[in-house]
Amino acid sequence: MACLLAFGFPSSAQENRYEFTEPQMGVPFRLVFYAPDQSRANSAAAGAYETIRRLNAIFSDYEADSELSLLSQTSGSGRSVPLSSDLWEILQLSQELSSRSDGAFDITVGPYVKLWRMARSQRRLPSPDRLAAAKQSVGFQKLLLDGPTRSAKLLAPGMRLDLGAIAKGFAVDRALQSLHQRGITRALVAGGGDLAASGPPPGAKGWQVEIPGLGPDSGSTNQRVLLANQALATSGDTFQRLEIDGKRYSHIVDPATGYGLTDHSLVTVLAPDCTTADSLATTVSVLGPARGLKLIEATPGTSVRILRQPGETVELAESPGFKKYYERPER
Ligand code: AMP
Ligand code: MG
Repeated sequence: MACLLAFGFPSSAQENRYEFTEPQMGVPFRLVFYAPDQSRANSAAAGAYETIRRLNAIFSDYEADSELSLLSQTSGSGRSVPLSSDLWEILQLSQELSSRSDGAFDITVGPYVKLWRMARSQRRLPSPDRLAAAKQSVGFQKLLLDGPTRSAKLLAPGMRLDLGAIAKGFAVDRALQSLHQRGITRALVAGGGDLAASGPPPGAKGWQVEIPGLGPDSGSTNQRVLLANQALATSGDTFQRLEIDGKRYSHIVDPATGYGLTDHSLVTVLAPDCTTADSLATTVSVLGPARGLKLIEATPGTSVRILRQPGETVELAESPGFKKYYERPER
């Protein structure tokens, strides 16, 4: 969603700019970085993509044999399942955010998400009966994590974990770390609308990133930010939505109702890392501006920009910290 702009930066004597793109986790994953030569660039990029592929094999809810899917298959069995350290970490972060957001962020929404994916292909709303049945298998309190054994237990039958709102951010962070371990310190990694940057390009203050606008006149609401040692993630219904009887339903679900969100919005979060930015962008989309801004204020190092279009006009709500990242601060 957020997109990178052309980079017209001069390269330094020792560092050339390299760029790679590969489809990963259902989106184009872009790596842009400075390295001394092509062969080091190639091996650093290969290492970063290997990291992303490895994480996808753990986190995917599309692949039946991912560690996440295998865990979901044990739901209702009474079994505790020991987890890999990556799955443990992301489940723990997810559960923490669920309690901090009163359940607005909830990775157990899988059964709802499945119904809405079906609704999109059939262009028909899920029936109240099916939503009520799905509700029995949704709720972050039904996912138990045990610290000492690093294991998880899914209490209700039919549960289906979905890391779609956090896994890309996590993979972006790990890909950036992987580049860093290979000596690449000026890099930007973008998994769709989820981005993280380490050091800026030579001679620049940051990487130029454009946050898209909203509404028919979206050009007037888009904005450029400069990103360095920071992450940015955007959530919204611009590209993934279902429209029935003039009402738009987002791919983001309100766990309280089981319905796709209907207020047309675009939420961009800046955070120290992309796991935080990605998960918060989805959460603020569910919470709306008033509660969303409060959650951001309570999360150190983060800021948010919320565009909403409840009717004809586009409304902007922003936390005070966001503006300082604008490429040209507003007067
Ligand atoms: P994002 O594009 O990062 O906002 O993530 C949206 C994806 O997260 C959806 O496609 C679902 O897979 C999943 N999801 C939907 N609603 C929620 C929610 N309330 N909490 C956590 N994940 C969700
Ligand atoms: Mg997200």
